[in-house]
Amino acid sequence: MVEAFIPKSLSECLELLNTHDLKIVAGGTDMLIQNRTHSSLPIGYKGDVLYISQIEELKNIYEDNQFVYIGAGATLETIMENLSVSKLLRETILEMASPAIRHTATLAGNIANASPAGDSLVSLYLLDAEVELKSLTNTRRMFVKDFIYGVRKINLEKNEMITKIIIPKLKFSHAYFKKVGPRLSDAISKLSFSGAYLVELGRIIDFRVAFGAVNIYVVRSPGLELKIIGKTVSQLKNQVEEILNWYEPLIKPINDQRSNKNYRKEVSLNLLREFIESLN
Ligand SMILES: Cc1cc2nc3c(=O)[nH]c(=O)nc-3n(C[C@H](O)[C@H](O)[C@H](O)COP(=O)(O)OP(=O)(O)OC[C@H]3O[C@@H](n4cnc5c(N)ncnc54)[C@H](O)[C@@H]3O)c2cc1C
Repeated sequence: MVEAFIPKSLSECLELLNTHDLKIVAGGTDMLIQNRTHSSLPIGYKGDVLYISQIEELKNIYEDNQFVYIGAGATLETIMENLSVSKLLRETILEMASPAIRHTATLAGNIANASPAGDSLVSLYLLDAEVELKSLTNTRRMFVKDFIYGVRKINLEKNEMITKIIIPKLKFSHAYFKKVGPRLSDAISKLSFSGAYLVELGRIIDFRVAFGAVNIYVVRSPGLELKIIGKTVSQLKNQVEEILNWYEPLIKPINDQRSNKNYRKEVSLNLLREFIESLN
């Protein structure tokens, strides 16, 4: 028989993780789909589960000079409404799921689910976001890009959990997220794109782009971004074809039920072109 644990404090939760083999359930919106039985209404969990939604201390969102800290129990809707959170991330969340799902689902759940189509990941990679991982005896921090090492593969020990998502405070002239799907929210992305830049006196000080659902991981290339930083906006615009050629080999989508690889590649490169042309 499957047992369910519902701790009320983080220390109780970490103690349970240390002594039992448990699968974490936050909002349960991915867990529900992954464990549905089709034959009965109750969810068919295959092992014991740890519900973390009752832990108030995991729901805090706060900031210091450098970072915004988002508790792993904060729902997408709460994050979206918090003005200290990066505008890019809030706009990304607005494109995710329906309000009903966003009132339950968490950002930590979207990260730990490690799907190449996870919408928040594109903006989190772009923002150099980190996760705080805690066990009973240890706390460590890791970039989201290093935390996820493959499709549904994450660097998490059995006795650990994500406790916070840490977002650097960055200054951009403009940043946006675009999702291409059958319907905008409440549908899995065919592909997604985030772009951000900072331009001062016509020169590019910061330039970042990230692509989702076009490889087994989010595609971002700090090396290519460095080649762009320092140029003037007009130099960049004159070089747009060359820059699309730099990115083209990194975009390796697959065919699946949602879309085909040629469409995904072409639209991703069009989104990059549109982003470069939007710089001013
Ligand atoms: C109708 C519907 C629409 C959706 N639309 C979108 C969409 O538009 N875009 C999108 O990206 N996703 C979408 N999703 C997927 C899902 O809602 C998101 O991935 C959501 O952010 C998952 O959060 P959760 O809290 O519900 O995770 P859960 O289902 O609770 O958990 C997901 C995974 O994360 C692990 N986990 C959760 N919290 C922690 C933690 N603190 N530490 C370690 N591991 C943890 C769990 O063990 C599990 O493996 C949709 C889902 C549904 C059902």
